[in-house]
Amino acid sequence: MQLFQYHRPTDIKEALSLFQKNEGAQYIAGATNLLDLMKKNITTPAHLIDINRLPLRNITSDAAGLTIGALALNSDVAEHETVVSEYQLISQALLQGASPQLRNMATVGGNLLQRTRCPYFYDTAFPCNKRTPNSGCGAKDGMNRGAAIFGASEACVATHPSDLCVALAALDAQVIVQSGKGERRIAFSDFHRLPGDTPEQDTVLQRGELITGVFVPANPFQRFAHYLKIRDRASYAFALVSVAVAYRVDNNEVIQDARIALGGVAHKPWRASEAEAFLKGKNNTEAVFRQAAALALISAKPLKHNAFKVKMAENAIIHALNNTI
Ligand SMILES: Cc1cc2nc3c(=O)[nH]c(=O)nc-3n(C[C@H](O)[C@H](O)[C@H](O)COP(=O)(O)OP(=O)(O)OC[C@H]3O[C@@H](n4cnc5c(N)ncnc54)[C@H](O)[C@@H]3O)c2cc1C
Repeated sequence: MQLFQYHRPTDIKEALSLFQKNEGAQYIAGATNLLDLMKKNITTPAHLIDINRLPLRNITSDAAGLTIGALALNSDVAEHETVVSEYQLISQALLQGASPQLRNMATVGGNLLQRTRCPYFYDTAFPCNKRTPNSGCGAKDGMNRGAAIFGASEACVATHPSDLCVALAALDAQVIVQSGKGERRIAFSDFHRLPGDTPEQDTVLQRGELITGVFVPANPFQRFAHYLKIRDRASYAFALVSVAVAYRVDNNEVIQDARIALGGVAHKPWRASEAEAFLKGKNNTEAVFRQAAALALISAKPLKHNAFKVKMAENAIIHALNNTI
């Protein structure tokens, strides 16, 4: 691990200013991802700005929606009374991530910014454009079982590993960020990027911007919603494929609005927009769900070792939707 200077600001202004003043600065929250990356010399910040003293742990709700502070712990969010009763997708997704010990350390802001679990990113003996720009992609023609089936590029086939982010994508959340210029809100679907030629950039965050929270609009989908994660073992494993489904129906059981977001299949949580559009105006029956699931996978582009994800994702969507009825 490389030497670094450690800072512990007590307010947001100080944290932002420390970042701007110090070249090679990086925020650290629960440290469950960043510390591993530092130990492996994948990330080598010269200045570490520990944000744990900032007042960003609150979880609040009103008629407009739910606001989760960036430092709220994954475990606290998963068990929060309002989250459980009104935003079950979030709770379900969090509880299927990592382990209780990790969830007790991991923060919401850090979860959004955790790096890919592509093995080529973690193994410095191999090229990886995400780790070292212009070094090549070891996964594209290598062992790519866990790689993306949507939105990949010649430069990168990595996937985003978060469970929480799949639920937040389905619920059209917003990421609240703060910089010296003030606050801005980023629609969740715009927050994470596809890799293109610059896979080293996971998100649209600008240098030094601090995530202060996540806003989730009041959820009309609580009655019909389910998060399903498929992984190699039952706990403590990242998703091969995951899916968050949510929809609402009118008095005649006709679907008025639907959301399907997939995890483990792209460089960002992947919204199945065509399938969502198809569901509108239909009844919530298994036959309809099967058609929607087939549509969701129509543009998938698997690599040599991950074609199984296409059928797996299709079945996961059907299974998750069936679970709602
Ligand atoms: C063994 C293991 C298994 C796991 N399994 C899963 C799983 O199944 N599903 C899942 O979703 N996750 C899983 N995780 C990932 C875990 O959820 C993340 O590591 C965690 O959420 C990151 O949060 P953190 O607070 O520890 O972030 P840190 O490690 O402190 O930081 C991560 C990144 O976020 C940045 N950052 C943190 N907070 C902010 C902020 N407020 N503003 C700007 N930048 C910020 C840091 O600079 C860093 O780049 C697993 C992790 C481990 C180690």
